[in-house]
Amino acid sequence: MTSDQHFVIVGGGLAAAKTAEALRDNDFAGTVTLISAEDYLPYERPPLSKEHLVGKKSLEEFTVDPGQWYRDHHIDVRLGTEVGAIDPSAKTVTLPDGSTLGYDKLALATGSTPRRLPIPGMDAREVYTLRTIGDSDALIELFGSARRLVIIGAGWIGLEVASAARAAQVEVTIVESAELPLLAALGPEMGRVFADLHRDHGVDLRFGAQVEAITTHQGEADLATGVRLTDGTVIEGDAVLVAIGARPNIELAANAGLATDGGVLVDASLATSDPDIVAVGDIADAQHPVLGRRIRVEHWANALNQPAVAAQTMLGKSASYERLPYFFTDQYDLGMEYTGYAATGEYAQVVVRGDVGKREFVAFWLDAENRVLAGMNVNIWDVTDRIKELIGRQVDPERLADTSTPL
Ligand SMILES: Cc1cc2nc3c(=O)[nH]c(=O)nc-3n(C[C@H](O)[C@H](O)[C@H](O)COP(=O)(O)OP(=O)(O)OC[C@H]3O[C@@H](n4cnc5c(N)ncnc54)[C@H](O)[C@@H]3O)c2cc1C
Repeated sequence: MTSDQHFVIVGGGLAAAKTAEALRDNDFAGTVTLISAEDYLPYERPPLSKEHLVGKKSLEEFTVDPGQWYRDHHIDVRLGTEVGAIDPSAKTVTLPDGSTLGYDKLALATGSTPRRLPIPGMDAREVYTLRTIGDSDALIELFGSARRLVIIGAGWIGLEVASAARAAQVEVTIVESAELPLLAALGPEMGRVFADLHRDHGVDLRFGAQVEAITTHQGEADLATGVRLTDGTVIEGDAVLVAIGARPNIELAANAGLATDGGVLVDASLATSDPDIVAVGDIADAQHPVLGRRIRVEHWANALNQPAVAAQTMLGKSASYERLPYFFTDQYDLGMEYTGYAATGEYAQVVVRGDVGKREFVAFWLDAENRVLAGMNVNIWDVTDRIKELIGRQVDPERLADTSTPL
């Protein structure tokens, strides 16, 4: 690899920063340019709905690398710069001023954008989504003045914001179209645990509820006042958070003719359909050698770890991404970690080891042959490695549930 090569990273989140790090860790001596649409150096997003939202962590504490690191490692960082197009045949990216920048290898790390609801009122004032530091700061300000918050969506972000809002004494109603929270991620057995947790902390949960409109003030049509459900129920609030999931930012890749299908299709080495372009983080729909399937994961750990493999691929070395999905959440006094992959409808049973009532347990998702697909430890720590070892193994469900048998 000659040092006159130019590698470009498009994106400004964790995956982009880790790609820059990994290139230098692998002694890549050429030019690295990181182009981010955001005005801040890459930062981690989990604290935006957790520690930062309750005033326990500042942006500096979850900025991936300080400015000095980029200077020391000669990374040309262009903030506030949205790449408009990629031309894979000319090997250029187009910058906002219309100029182009050539690359030898390109990494796409464009992440996700919150989904919006196609309903009246979505653009009103006091309607929030959460993805950026600006969004999180706006919610902090809101918690200082609002009395009632309506959250649409009982997914991870909706639930974590509910927890932070309750800590700030804000009344919270969560409106969810499914019958339980986190149903797609965890299934009904563990969805119930989170429903109970939020009820115990005074959250008003409305399941099986379809939002028809975000209602607005009669005198001020652009000011949200709550939501109206399709059955006519009106839920009043000083603000509405729309937390119905995220959409991967794949337009750049798709418009450049790269193979996409909901995400950017990559092989196990994280190369896209163009061998000079890799994709990492939320957008990467990667062939997973261990799971034997394609998987796209919107998790912090994925954005943290995929870049090491992608950088090797950019450098022409052979590498493949084989880590199992890993996720964590913190809500009230519940902390949990989830390892593995148990898709809805693909597991046969959930085995619980420990005390669900006290919210101190490990749950395992098993397939019909009693093979472990995934495990989740709730308020029990340092078991992730053991859970990982069990994944793919056939177990005796009764012994697994028995806390007197070592894991
Ligand atoms: C509030 C919140 C809480 C979360 N909590 C957890 C958690 O507890 N556990 C967990 O595992 N995961 C969590 N996640 C998910 C995790 O943060 C994401 O999976 C991770 O941020 C993905 O990293 P990424 O670098 O792929 O994308 P992102 O972090 O989305 O970064 C993408 C970057 O690319 C930039 N960009 C996009 N298009 C362009 C363009 N055309 N030109 C230039 N720049 C562009 C964007 O502006 C952005 O800076 C959370 C996410 C959020 C929003």
